[in-house]
Amino acid sequence: MSTNPNETQATATASAKHYSVIVVGGGQAGLSMSYYLKQAGIDHLVIEKHTVTHTWRSQRWDAFCLVTPNWQCALPGYPYQGNDPHGFMKKDEITAYLDGFIRMVNAPVLEHTEVRRVKPQEQGGYLVSTTQGDFTAGQVVVASGGYHTPIVPRMAERLPAGIRQVQSSEYRSPQALPEGGVLVVGSGQSGAQIAEDLHLAGRKVFLAVGQAPRCARFYRGRDVVDWLADMQYYDMAVQEHPLREGVRDNTNHYVTGRDGGRDIDLRKFATEGMELFGALEDFHDGKLRFTPNLKANLDDADDTYNRINASIDKYIDKHGISAPGASAYAPVWTPGEERWALDLAQAGIGAIVWCIGFRPDFSWLEAPVFNGRGYPGHVRGVTAQDGLYFLGLPWLHTWGSGRFSGVARDAEYLAAMIGGKLGAQALAA
Ligand SMILES: Cc1cc2nc3c(=O)[nH]c(=O)nc-3n(C[C@H](O)[C@H](O)[C@H](O)COP(=O)(O)OP(=O)(O)OC[C@H]3O[C@@H](n4cnc5c(N)ncnc54)[C@H](O)[C@@H]3O)c2cc1C
Repeated sequence: MSTNPNETQATATASAKHYSVIVVGGGQAGLSMSYYLKQAGIDHLVIEKHTVTHTWRSQRWDAFCLVTPNWQCALPGYPYQGNDPHGFMKKDEITAYLDGFIRMVNAPVLEHTEVRRVKPQEQGGYLVSTTQGDFTAGQVVVASGGYHTPIVPRMAERLPAGIRQVQSSEYRSPQALPEGGVLVVGSGQSGAQIAEDLHLAGRKVFLAVGQAPRCARFYRGRDVVDWLADMQYYDMAVQEHPLREGVRDNTNHYVTGRDGGRDIDLRKFATEGMELFGALEDFHDGKLRFTPNLKANLDDADDTYNRINASIDKYIDKHGISAPGASAYAPVWTPGEERWALDLAQAGIGAIVWCIGFRPDFSWLEAPVFNGRGYPGHVRGVTAQDGLYFLGLPWLHTWGSGRFSGVARDAEYLAAMIGGKLGAQALAA
């Protein structure tokens, strides 16, 4: 047996099955990529750690429903065809939609196989090492999602062992948590909806409110998403956004599609008994400590809400559209003096749901394409490393890139890039 690592790698490469393209990840992005590669007649393999589209099945709570309206479910070749385009699919309807898409694409997939390492080879192309052996590929598309490692502050390790701690991706239902109060940390899309889910079930909820913005569900007679679509917000490329690439760091606006869709108004929840605090900062002496920024965070979220509505007003005026009258949100509750601390035991808190986001993990990808924060450098998913692409990340190209609405456009673009490179290689051969 060789002890020379280069020789070992060369032997592994020689015996590995080769594909023109390997797609890492069989979520909606990986399958969308496969759809266009199949159309272009490009041989490829999708490698999926679990089963295709498993995140929608295993990482959402029971009462989950889409925040985006059904008409935005626009996976390639598989637009929403139901009779409720302005409704919001529930979890089982989403998985049924995905089942249909999976059947339609009929992608070449290797499931239950984890990609452990992707490494560019000196002679070109990539070595793809998996739990089922090695493969080689001329080009690689990374469609492994962006939500890998939950963000949890280290102080969580100092919380009493009796407190049940779960991530937003592990939360299932109010009944699945132990009795007592529940602290939800974070008020982005997941945190706000999970807090609402618990609140509606009659659980005592303590919510650490962060800096997430919010938006209205309906305004001037229509879903805000419909107005923003007409205003071409969803076609805006990341480079055209006022924050440019910085928009990728933004927290999603909180709003819900539950029960036909409505606003999430944390101030209203406060009038109904939910206890709101600023951002969670620390835990010591049996007390949770909060940043005194509840008022500012609620005000900022409302400012965004009103600003989005004002942009719709402007659009309506500019185009002379007939619509019901304009209005501004008037707060139904304002916090008194900021509360800095909460005694965990006295409050009767039995569980904590962490909803402060995720970090991507691309540690298996040995290509020099990452910035200091582990985010890949790319333009529309195309990296500086020849033949290496990313797909499905939030704001990869537009708002919808990491959602059902925009991944098709991005996958089609990458398929053209991949096909162009293959064509150039064929001409050169
Ligand atoms: C709580 C929540 C609510 C959302 N609500 C909406 C909504 O209302 N509307 C909307 O349009 N979008 C919504 N989204 C966003 C979006 O649609 C999803 O994040 C979507 O799942 C992204 O698809 P993806 O294929 O890019 O990534 P994923 O679904 O994460 O799929 C990636 C796949 O890659 C696999 N994988 C990862 N690493 C490896 C590896 N090393 N080897 C092999 N396989 C690997 C994973 O197992 C996974 O199956 C929501 C997201 C979340 C988290």
